[in-house]
Amino acid sequence: MAPRRSRPAPEPTGRSAAHAAIELRGVRRSYGRGEETVHALRGIDLVLDRGSFTAVMGPSGSGKSTFLQCAAGLDRPTSGEVFLGGEEITRLSEDRLTRLRRSRIGFVFQSFNLLPSLTVLQNVLLPQRLAGERQDRGRARELLAQVGLGEHGRRRPGQLSGGQQQRVAIARALITSPDVLFADEPTGALDTNTAHEVLGLLRRAVDTMGATVVMVTHDPVAASFADRVVFLADGLPAGELYRPDPQTIADRMVALTARPLRTAA
Ligand code: ADP
Ligand code: MG
Repeated sequence: MAPRRSRPAPEPTGRSAAHAAIELRGVRRSYGRGEETVHALRGIDLVLDRGSFTAVMGPSGSGKSTFLQCAAGLDRPTSGEVFLGGEEITRLSEDRLTRLRRSRIGFVFQSFNLLPSLTVLQNVLLPQRLAGERQDRGRARELLAQVGLGEHGRRRPGQLSGGQQQRVAIARALITSPDVLFADEPTGALDTNTAHEVLGLLRRAVDTMGATVVMVTHDPVAASFADRVVFLADGLPAGELYRPDPQTIADRMVALTARPLRTAA
């Protein structure tokens, strides 16, 4: 096993910082066992503030997806703690975790993941339906208007462009007013102009709707929409930038990619 990195002793129990939407403490995630163990995350300590927009970047295999899955309660760390909205989630039962994901986390994926047989409005309402909550059509229509699709509620996803579909997915992710909206390469399937619209929309969700967004991306321009860019390399934090421009981000990525990888401990 890799030696534990030194870090300030965490609070032994209880709650995370009051301003935190998410907090990770000493999060490690390994896959497999014995000789073949892969240490995807080697000890992540990170606080993401409420109402912030964070981009997570790093070379391929650096642990970005694993980080997102652990932070979002889709995967359990091998050790360490994850606080979501002040609540420690790593030891919750599968059942409670599922309910928490449905009501307090929003997801946006590269491939939109809308249900083709439902209308746009029904897609936006789906998280409330799955959570067994009252379906608030007024709020769904309002969200559709905010993402510029007020007139498209009765259409099917197949009748919309890629960028429009991703905007529906963002409206859907926001309907439960989640503690955090996680986005995994949300512009990966979009052309440059459409990508900018979607990124501008995520930015507005943070600035005017009080959302907290965490986005994994490999695109320095996309990351420059964030307040803060957190870099991962080889399963560990590898520095961060605040309000950086795309060139600074690109330079940092080049430096990280050129860095020799540690061998698995
Ligand atoms: P990234 O998203 O930055 O490309 P990942 O989080 O997907 O990185 O992967 C980090 C490391 O963990 C990689 O070495 C990857 O091969 C490994 N890994 C990820 N998921 C699994 C899995 N389910 N089983 C085994 N190894 C995995
Ligand atoms: Mg990945």
